[in-house]
Amino acid sequence: MSNSTFEQIGKVLREHQHFAILGHVRPDGDALGSQLALALSLEQLGKDVRVWNEDGMLEKYSFLPRAELLTKSPARAHHVDVAIALDTAIQNRLGTALAAVGSAKIWINIDHHLSNPGYGDLVIVDVSAPATGEIIFNLITSQGLPFNHDIAENLYAAISTDTGSFQYPNTSARTFEIAAELVRAGGLDVGKISRQLYENYPRRRLELLRELLRTMRFSAHDRVASFSLSLKTAADLSVLPEDNEGLIDHLRAVRGVIVAVFFEELVDGKVRVSMRSKDEAVDVCAICQKFGGGGHTLAAGARVRGSLAEVEEKVLEEIRDVLKRGS
Ligand code: AMP
Ligand code: MN
Ligand code: MN
Repeated sequence: MSNSTFEQIGKVLREHQHFAILGHVRPDGDALGSQLALALSLEQLGKDVRVWNEDGMLEKYSFLPRAELLTKSPARAHHVDVAIALDTAIQNRLGTALAAVGSAKIWINIDHHLSNPGYGDLVIVDVSAPATGEIIFNLITSQGLPFNHDIAENLYAAISTDTGSFQYPNTSARTFEIAAELVRAGGLDVGKISRQLYENYPRRRLELLRELLRTMRFSAHDRVASFSLSLKTAADLSVLPEDNEGLIDHLRAVRGVIVAVFFEELVDGKVRVSMRSKDEAVDVCAICQKFGGGGHTLAAGARVRGSLAEVEEKVLEEIRDVLKRGS
């Protein structure tokens, strides 16, 4: 990625009128905040902007400024001038949002995933960025695109959530500089945003954690920790898919654990695998790619066909092999 790609994207944004801004299935704060921030900037330029994903806005992120702009992708395909995929490692993780774009003259792909193959006409995949929100900030400031409080708050939420509150290793001096600029120029109330992001969970999320801890397993001399969620437990507790975001951090936080894994049974006969590593030498993106998934070196995922027990066995075995080879 070079400055000239930022310039080309800036030019495309100014010279077209109809945009669709898309994000990945099972969205997170980075996808939602980045999508809204870019949409609001384009809106200020007088553009017609659709903001779609497969799931729509999540209840827990509905406090984000102008959250109502983000909707489920429509069943009928629309024609736009420019389609922009944000924070989405592979195009099919756009889910129904991909089909909602009937045609687009130009596809833009802005992301920070190692496994992104670079689909699209104009591509920025910045693996050093801890959040797509950081790249959107760079785009807005380098190209002189509109910026205001609402854009700042969305970008702050994107960066805060994808860095684990500015804790993960790719959090750089630049990340803090951007956060400072967002707080200063956007006039943000950090305490208020943090309360909305991290101290506003529904009670059922903690009840879910209690059930997950009952299934907790350790292996490979306590270097691998996992837990799992069956469809039955999810139904018994009436949990939403978004309730489990971040619970895997309880496993990662244990001393000695190198790889943490969360298995979630899905309705389509697959299991969602979510993986975290604490050691750069143990690349969970590579492990997940073996199962058709992807992500980052230290945080990755996959959807694997099979029963919960089968997928657990297969995936844990692969992780143990990788650890054995490395030690
Ligand atoms: P998660 O564990 O769902 O929080 O995802 C961790 C990281 O891996 C995120 O950056 C995702 O974009 C990526 N990821 C998760 N699931 C998949 C998948 N099925 N295919 C490709 N990348 C994925
Ligand atoms: Mn994401
Ligand atoms: Mn991200």
